[in-house]
Amino acid sequence: MSTALFDLTGRTALITGSARGIGLALAQGLAQSGARVIVNGRQAGSSEAAASGLRAMGLQAQSAAFDVADAAAVEAAFAGFDAAGLEIDILINNAGIQHRQPMLDLALADWQRVIDTNLTAAFLVGREAARRMIARQRGGKIINIGSLTSEAARATVAPYTAAKGGIKLLSRSMAAEWAQFDIQANAIGPGYILTDMNQALVDNPQFDAWVKASNPAQRWGRPEELVGAAVFLASKASGYVNGQIIYVDGGWLAVL
Ligand code: NDP
Repeated sequence: MSTALFDLTGRTALITGSARGIGLALAQGLAQSGARVIVNGRQAGSSEAAASGLRAMGLQAQSAAFDVADAAAVEAAFAGFDAAGLEIDILINNAGIQHRQPMLDLALADWQRVIDTNLTAAFLVGREAARRMIARQRGGKIINIGSLTSEAARATVAPYTAAKGGIKLLSRSMAAEWAQFDIQANAIGPGYILTDMNQALVDNPQFDAWVKASNPAQRWGRPEELVGAAVFLASKASGYVNGQIIYVDGGWLAVL
């Protein structure tokens, strides 16, 4: 079968929170499909190190460090892309944080920080990207990273769950408003994936056993296992797919 449908040659992709973990795997996967990728994190050093690692693999990558939850920083970053002639065709809103605490003890500041990073940032970055995609009249792709908590709650992660539930319907809102401009906005809901964010859970024998027992694949997922869904949603192959969330979870939700 021809892979032309999935070819991203000539496309520029911004992947937020891609200095490590899932974002870095997605940046590598999109670049291996032909895209030029922009790696992002809050720290210039680690963002550029990640981009440099991709370039060492022969891929097209550069970095842009900014805080996705800071509206002024997001606007400044896009002004910088404009000045550099970088036109974002594909945006992956991936940056995210976790904060585990029972709700009764949760401070407003911690609630707000998680909501700002995991939900509001997708609106801020998505709005800047979509404004330019619409003005260019070439369409575009937006992929928002949700979670199993876009669908189901667990104790001690209320702001994360509220934000990821919001990501699912923010994706539909983007589709509702921007599909007419040939922008496809969809989401990916990863299951339990081996990254720094989950290291404490991996190191906890009880939680590790629970993850393995609670999904049909009986194992944690790997960041690179999200690449197939991302390339599909970033490519021509998904030209009439809009407002959907694809769960990549080893079958976890199938047996919930
Ligand atoms: P990691 O903690 O490994 O990586 C998070 C990345 O986001 C880092 O590069 C970090 O860089 C960046 N980041 C965090 N805050 C900001 C910010 N305000 N602005 C810019 N960059 C930021 O997380 P994962 O790779 O595990 O998670 C990636 C996404 O996938 C998140 O949205 C997460 O919720 C989601 N997800 C993860 C799952 C998992 O099992 N791992 C499961 C379901 C969803 P820096 O700290 O340098 O800014």
